[in-house]
Amino acid sequence: MTPDIKPLVAGNWKMNGQRDQLDQLALMSKGADAELSQKLDIVVCPPATLLYVATALAEDTGLKVGAQDCHANASGAHTGDVSAEMIADCLAEYCIVGHSERRTDHEESNADILAKTQACWRAGLKAIVCIGETEAEYDAGQAETVLSSQLAGSLPEGATDQNTIVAYEPVWAIGTGKTPSPEDIKAIHEFLRNELIERLHGPGERMKILYGGSVKPSNAAEILMIENVDGALVGGASLKAEDLLSICEVYRKV
Ligand code: PEP
Repeated sequence: MTPDIKPLVAGNWKMNGQRDQLDQLALMSKGADAELSQKLDIVVCPPATLLYVATALAEDTGLKVGAQDCHANASGAHTGDVSAEMIADCLAEYCIVGHSERRTDHEESNADILAKTQACWRAGLKAIVCIGETEAEYDAGQAETVLSSQLAGSLPEGATDQNTIVAYEPVWAIGTGKTPSPEDIKAIHEFLRNELIERLHGPGERMKILYGGSVKPSNAAEILMIENVDGALVGGASLKAEDLLSICEVYRKV
C-alpha cells in the first residue's frame, strides 16, 4: 500500500464469460458494499460482449466496469475491433491496455499501447497500462531495463494519477501459479515508483501501481500489503465472485 493512494483491484475475465456468468457479476456488485468500496476501487473487466449488461448490473453499486482492450481509432474500417468511445458508450470507466497476451498474441508494440492509452483518455476512460518482463528477461536480470523501456514507450505525455493506472505483471507469473518473492515485488514496485516520479513528478507519486500474476485469496494479504503495491490485476481468481471479493476484503480491515 502507499499512504494516500486508494487501492484498486481489477478482475480481468479475459475470453471467459457468457450470460450465465452474470450471476457472478451480480454477486460482485452486492459484495462491493459502501464500506468496502470506500476502502478500494473494485473493477471487473468482462469480455466486450457482456460490457453493456455488466454496467447495467453494476449501476448504483460499488462495482465499476472496464474493458480488456480498445482500438486506437474512434471508428472506421477495423472489422472486429472495439473503440474506446464504444466502451465509454457502454458506460464502462476503465480499459486495460498492453496486457502481455495482447503484446504476444497480437504483436502489439509499445507504440500501439501508447496510442490505445491516448484513445482511452480521449473517450474519458482510465487506462490500466500493463507492463512486465518475460521469464528469460527475469532470469537474465533484465527486468528493470525491460520495464523502464516499456514504461517509456507505452506511457504517453500527459499521464496522471487520474487518467492512468500502471499494472506490473511479470509474464511468467500470469496464470502459472508462480509469483515473485515479496522482496522482489517490493523492489520492482519501488523501482517503478521512482521511474514514475522522475518522469511525471507529483502525479507519479500518486499513480496506482498494481501487481498482477497469480494473485488469489491465499496470497493476496501478503502481496497487497507490500509498499507501493496499490492493488492487483487478477485473472483466473476474478471469475468467481467469492474469490475476487475475498481478495478485496483484505482492505476492509486496514
Ligand atoms: C492477468 O491475466 O492479468 C492475470 C494476472 O492472470 P492470473 O491472475 O490468472 O495470473
